[in-house]
Amino acid sequence: MKSYKFKLFPNKEQEDKLDLALDISRQTYNYLLSLFSSTSEGFNEGEMKNYLRDLKVVNEDFKNKIYSTSLQVECEKIHDNLSVLSSLKKKGKKVGRLRYKGKGWKKTFVYKQSGFKILKKSKNNSLYLSKIGNIKMILHRKVEGDIKQLIIKKEVDNWYVIFQTDAVIKNKCGRKVVGIDMSPSKFGIRSDKIIMEMPKEIDVSLSKLKKCNRNMSRKKKGSKNRFKARKLLQKRYWRLNNQKHNFYHQISVKLVKDCKVIGIETLSIKGMMMGYYSAVNFQKSGWATFINKYLIYKAESAGCQVWACDRFEPTSKKCSGCGNINKELKLSDRTYECSKCGLIIDRDLNASINIKKTCRLGTNLCGVDTSLDSEKDLKVSVRNLKYGRKQEKISNCS
Ligand SMILES: [Zn+2]
Repeated sequence: MKSYKFKLFPNKEQEDKLDLALDISRQTYNYLLSLFSSTSEGFNEGEMKNYLRDLKVVNEDFKNKIYSTSLQVECEKIHDNLSVLSSLKKKGKKVGRLRYKGKGWKKTFVYKQSGFKILKKSKNNSLYLSKIGNIKMILHRKVEGDIKQLIIKKEVDNWYVIFQTDAVIKNKCGRKVVGIDMSPSKFGIRSDKIIMEMPKEIDVSLSKLKKCNRNMSRKKKGSKNRFKARKLLQKRYWRLNNQKHNFYHQISVKLVKDCKVIGIETLSIKGMMMGYYSAVNFQKSGWATFINKYLIYKAESAGCQVWACDRFEPTSKKCSGCGNINKELKLSDRTYECSKCGLIIDRDLNASINIKKTCRLGTNLCGVDTSLDSEKDLKVSVRNLKYGRKQEKISNCS
């Protein structure tokens, strides 16, 4: 499945309609939740949909202002969530409750299968949404595959559409073996000497955010000024997140394009052992997010391997040239000097080369093929099977 996100440009009237539809889907969610959350069993999806029909008779807005499948999706969502909760409960796990959604909490609603159409014109593309109208949209890239559903999303004061298609992503991975050392000053350094540096604008956004936060805390609670300050704060957060996501996407795409094997360090343990990972730096860099949410899925789709180094591997203190261990290396030393072979090298680069060398002894996060690597291997093994030969163990690390 592949998703595409585009910005929408609704006019004032359409925006009001979108807001109303969002609120109706929220009310439906709350209503169904109130009906079914107390019953531990005895709900099914059909019953839920009957209640939905009643809702439409009582209040015509539920029929006229929102597309019918959008409400059905809410139904399915609640049904799924409640089923999961009750099955966990049966297994003896401690579970919480689903929460009601307050005004403005819900940010998305869904069109499933139908009720929408992309209208392409030479200059103005638009998106037709049933019950809403034709909304201006800029199609900045081609949508591949069939659109299965679309999500309308509100972010701060902007509206977006996310198309979910059945297209299969097939990226190609490179041939290099690369280790990455995550450092707090730069984002990270690769063993092929490429520096992955956080863009400057992220620092600017961070300092603006700080100022904004301070500003809001000074305003009187419940005042109009506080409301304004909160809106601004939301905007700043949103902008910072976008910048970060953009950066993560760029570096992860480049990594996967270049490499066959990517080695990283085991983060949490190293973070605890080395004092120089301050909480601020850790948060700012977001390595964990980068690895879990961006790198691994991209690597997986391209058939690229990701390995995390063994946690007790002394990657910083070991010489990448001769393997000698310098126990006296301090945190403040930015260059590594080897007393045995005389190697002088940047500290982070030295660590990244060590990671490259030893990562495949650690844990595999993704990409090790249990099937066979190439067609050639397959042919050989089929032949071996035919003649009853013992199959050779194929190394995963090649
Ligand atoms: Zn050395």
